[in-house]
Amino acid sequence: MSERPCIAVIGGGLTGLAAVHRLSELSAEQDQLINVTLFEASDRLGGVFGTRHINGHVVETGADSFITNKPWAVDLCDRLGLGDQLIGTNPAYQRSLILHEGKPVVTPEGFELLLPRKLRALLASPLLSHEGKIRVAAEPFVPPKTDQSDESLASFVRRRFGQEMLDRIVQPMVGGIYTADPEHLSMQATLPRFARRERDYGSLLRSVWAERGSDESKADEELDNPSGISGARYGLFASLKEGMSQLLDALTVSAQRSAKVAMNVAVAFIQLMPDGGYDIELSNGEKQSFDAVILALPAHHSGRLVKPWDSTLAERLLQIPYASSAIVVSAHRMEDVEHPVDAFGLVIPHVEGRRILAVSFLSRKFEGRSPEGTIQLRTFVGGAMQPELLDQPDDAIYAMVREELQDILGVRGKPIFEIMARYERAMPQYHVGHLDLVEDIDRLTSLHDCFAIAGNAYRGVGLPDSIHSGEEAAERTIATLFA
Ligand SMILES: Cc1cc2nc3c(=O)[nH]c(=O)nc-3n(C[C@H](O)[C@H](O)[C@H](O)COP(=O)(O)OP(=O)(O)OC[C@H]3O[C@@H](n4cnc5c(N)ncnc54)[C@H](O)[C@@H]3O)c2cc1C
Repeated sequence: MSERPCIAVIGGGLTGLAAVHRLSELSAEQDQLINVTLFEASDRLGGVFGTRHINGHVVETGADSFITNKPWAVDLCDRLGLGDQLIGTNPAYQRSLILHEGKPVVTPEGFELLLPRKLRALLASPLLSHEGKIRVAAEPFVPPKTDQSDESLASFVRRRFGQEMLDRIVQPMVGGIYTADPEHLSMQATLPRFARRERDYGSLLRSVWAERGSDESKADEELDNPSGISGARYGLFASLKEGMSQLLDALTVSAQRSAKVAMNVAVAFIQLMPDGGYDIELSNGEKQSFDAVILALPAHHSGRLVKPWDSTLAERLLQIPYASSAIVVSAHRMEDVEHPVDAFGLVIPHVEGRRILAVSFLSRKFEGRSPEGTIQLRTFVGGAMQPELLDQPDDAIYAMVREELQDILGVRGKPIFEIMARYERAMPQYHVGHLDLVEDIDRLTSLHDCFAIAGNAYRGVGLPDSIHSGEEAAERTIATLFA
């Protein structure tokens, strides 16, 4: 190893940038000198993440916010000096809508992804038929699953609350987050706290009744938030005043200060050297040597790079499926929209037979995103359940989205602008058995010295998870280099 260990971080999305920033923090804290190179295949940093400013609108082409009960994004913003730039959601529109028989209906009060915390509100809602409501109310009498094996979200909800609740409410709400098919989505990897409720109380509804007056909901939150820091400062979701790119810009400045940033160069090949270290071949033919490597890429890219020297690890990485999606962002004059769009967004059950997955009302969710008298909509297309829609050319997708928005929300006339971002194989799918697969990946990765894999394919799909994963990879790398 050279006097100053050389570390390659491959992939300049949020995960890679978070890793580079953490490496620079640790190097300063521990007074250890390192040389870091960040490789990014495209001509911009940020990956599936970015903000554009169009005619006075702050437009997010990727993530529009992040959850705050996982502390890592808020923490990073604080450390980057962006704490005073964080904004919470607008309480005036704090509710969501579900499409039901062609009409947007308000989600029953207290409904949490698959848990009706206020049963009466659900029973009063038009979202379920009489029979569907009876089935939900019978949940406390459904015997609990006796083993602790993983199961799909669909199987869990069908068992506990019945098919109608799955089809009409849970599939669109959870599918909207993971762009996933609930028949495959792993309960243990995505929503373990609900499985825990069944295990501990025998019933989800009984768990809600038991905790009335106790502090159980807080305990639930803490189980998903090991550091115990809560997001109370901003509500459940936060963003940044000028858009999510404020975070990207601050991380870019940090990377440019502390590392060599190589843009427009893909890492084409990595070779594990017999005496330790890694030789990297770039898309431009250049070769470089490193003491340590952090792969901050989608799992299918990592799998390809690992394949020549660890086919078992590569095979595991390539087993993680991905879904593709597109977001059409459009802005409209309020007078062109019949519906009051008085919510954060609308999700659409697959059984409604529509060609869009969800619409996020960005300028309702966060203040300052669009000029007065206008509304900004982010319409999601594709995902694991409708991949074929993405085979269409851009023009056809724009036309399809316009038709659906007109039908569902009464959006008429020409939009002020509309843009589309396509994300091919960008959303990892946590299928049943995902946690076992990830444990295997961790074990196989740890067999290689000074080598780490990070990203949103393993232990959480959101931005805070990506950041955490990148930071942990940096910490492991420094710990092994200076052991
Ligand atoms: C449509 C969409 C909406 C989302 N919305 C939200 C949201 O609202 N809130 C939230 O918390 N999360 C959201 N997410 C998830 C979040 O955006 C991701 O978890 C996060 O951005 C992933 O970052 P990453 O760096 O791991 O991966 P990526 O962003 O995919 O970055 C990987 C980078 O690696 C580069 N690369 C690939 N191959 C190579 C190579 N061989 N050599 C060098 N570079 C390479 C790519 O060009 C890319 O820049 C969303 C995701 C999507 C797809």
